[in-house]
Amino acid sequence: MTLLLPTSTAGSLPKPSWLSEPEKLWSPWKLEGEELAVAKRDALRLTLDDQVRAGISIVSDGEQTRQHFVTTLIEHLAGVDMEKRQTVRIRDRYDASVPTVVGAVSRDKPVFVEDVKYLRSLTDAPVKWALPGPLTMVDTLYDAHYKSREKLAMEFAVILNEEARELEAAGVNIIQFDEPAFNVFFDEVNDWGIAALERAIEGLNCETAAHICYGYGIKANTDWKKTLGSEWREYEETFPNLQKSNLDLISLECHNSHVPLELIELLRGKKVMVGAIDVANHAVESPKEVAGTLRQALQYVDADKLYPCTNCGMAPLPRVVAKGKLESLGAGAEIIRKELAVQKSAA
Ligand code: ZN
Repeated sequence: MTLLLPTSTAGSLPKPSWLSEPEKLWSPWKLEGEELAVAKRDALRLTLDDQVRAGISIVSDGEQTRQHFVTTLIEHLAGVDMEKRQTVRIRDRYDASVPTVVGAVSRDKPVFVEDVKYLRSLTDAPVKWALPGPLTMVDTLYDAHYKSREKLAMEFAVILNEEARELEAAGVNIIQFDEPAFNVFFDEVNDWGIAALERAIEGLNCETAAHICYGYGIKANTDWKKTLGSEWREYEETFPNLQKSNLDLISLECHNSHVPLELIELLRGKKVMVGAIDVANHAVESPKEVAGTLRQALQYVDADKLYPCTNCGMAPLPRVVAKGKLESLGAGAEIIRKELAVQKSAA
């Protein structure tokens, strides 16, 4: 990539209100059948347009065709009963009604390939595609079959690898695995969570990323953050092993979080997606604030490895807020690009 500081979103963007009820997770679709299929594509086209107009360098589908970043993949897999729900505590933090694993899991056909082909047909920009990571998938299900989180995660890793290879063939440039559970279950991450991710990226030629965050800006998460103290050092538990992994990019939350930025140094050699947009707040950051966060991050990561990003998905935010945040991300990165160009010509 020739452009310095390529910007992207962590994943989801809000859906239009005619597609599903806004400002809600797991919001049901408002349409059905062919009408829904057409509406999802229209939403994808709009979300791409918002990103392009905001100057976002690496575009995504904004998860417009997915009800939820984990369950939409899971509902396409054999071995999972979507009707048989269990309420379980997820992320060790809040109760959610989740589907049940009732037999051996497998993927009979591609899940997102048609969406990728459509997005690819609309743009020449680099495309980043998010998939849930194995540990986070396991943590968003009730397992009545394998009765082992590790075993199930490894099965999911094989399935994710099949999907990822087809997404790559359809034109995706970066495949990102979302692992919010990596900030909670440190022993599992280090025992088998990172190994499962490495299984998921086996044989891929495109770039690969892990997005690790403190979750959507929902109340259960903001309440949890209040218990984490004045310095959030969770990344310290997992970054050393992620640094040794084959993943190319690692994301972390920065703006408005209590993450000490020197933790970025634990990722030396990796490309770092620096969260410069808060998703737990409706106040739109100014481009100057975004630039300030990026300037701080540059103390710990080389400019050619800095990828400005949002802290997490923006699905639960009002659309107008998310749009403003996108624009500030694009404009904030541009401020730093200009500063770097001046420094370079002065040197
Ligand atoms: Zn996230």
